[in-house]
Amino acid sequence: MGSPNQTTDISELVEALNLLRDEAERDLPQASSEQDLEQLRVAFLGKKGKLSGVLRMMGKLPKDARPEAGKVANGVRDRINGLLTENAQRLEDAKMAAALQERIDVTLPGRAPLSGGQHILNQTRDLILDVLKGLGFEMARGPEVEHDFYNFEALNIPEEHPARDMQDTFYIADRVVLRTHTSPVQIRSMMSAKTPPLRVACFGRVYRHDHDVTHSPMFHQIEGLFVDKNVSMADLKGTLEIFTQKIFDDEAKVRLRPSFFPFTEPSVEVDISCFACKGAGCRLCSHTGWIEIMGAGMVDPEVFKMSGYDPEECTGFAFGIGVERVAMLRHGISDIRLFFENDLRFLKQF
Ligand SMILES: [Zn+2]
Repeated sequence: MGSPNQTTDISELVEALNLLRDEAERDLPQASSEQDLEQLRVAFLGKKGKLSGVLRMMGKLPKDARPEAGKVANGVRDRINGLLTENAQRLEDAKMAAALQERIDVTLPGRAPLSGGQHILNQTRDLILDVLKGLGFEMARGPEVEHDFYNFEALNIPEEHPARDMQDTFYIADRVVLRTHTSPVQIRSMMSAKTPPLRVACFGRVYRHDHDVTHSPMFHQIEGLFVDKNVSMADLKGTLEIFTQKIFDDEAKVRLRPSFFPFTEPSVEVDISCFACKGAGCRLCSHTGWIEIMGAGMVDPEVFKMSGYDPEECTGFAFGIGVERVAMLRHGISDIRLFFENDLRFLKQF
């Protein structure tokens, strides 16, 4: 390279341009980011860059040598621009490849989709209804807001009858209640069936003014009603034995104790032999070997009369069981409120 006042030789300029091209060919492929590449672009092609520096020598060339020098200079500029485009693409491709790599890393553990499940009370209800269906019972439902007549009167609980105190009732209006049991569905079934035989399972929500660890103001009940000629207490006991064996324990034994319900006569409390200790005595059965499971009895003749059946002609039995009680016993749950709190940590266990 000549000094400012000397005439520059074209070969000197061409050599300088070629060196610049070699430098660009060496440096640009080393750029590791878009910022690196931008710095190199400024360094080579910027106003105060290396190419401008070399081209300043052009003015000192003889006039006839300038077109030739200009051609070489343009070639080097094109080459550097080409290198810039090439390497910008290289960096872009690398970035994309890295992003893709991240997205399709098949070695990452999968994300399991959240799946829903049936509520434990619905599972228990279905289990009980399946057993009853197997025993020939038809399903029946009725309204939850019920007339006093179906909820009480037709079930042999007239107004002022002390039995009304057995169930703390929610009144909606005068003589309209939230049903306190599913028994009104029995009355409705008998009234619409006209003639026996009749075998129905009534199920659904019932309401009582009651609230503690074993009582909820709303709970679920399932009742069975069987009406025919010559139905006896033995039929009731046999049915309950099969029913409880299917639900609790293949070897469950049933024990009937005298009790009182206005709509059955005689009435019984039904105990089953403890399925946890097989009768030896444990905490679940309060060391008695027996667990109280439900109420039952032979349909009271007064109930038949109210439903339009002739008590001389037909006999029948009825039993009612709480779905929550069955679920609590089967799964060792001690607080009824857990069923209604919708805590997934609890619900997911079933
Ligand atoms: Zn026991």
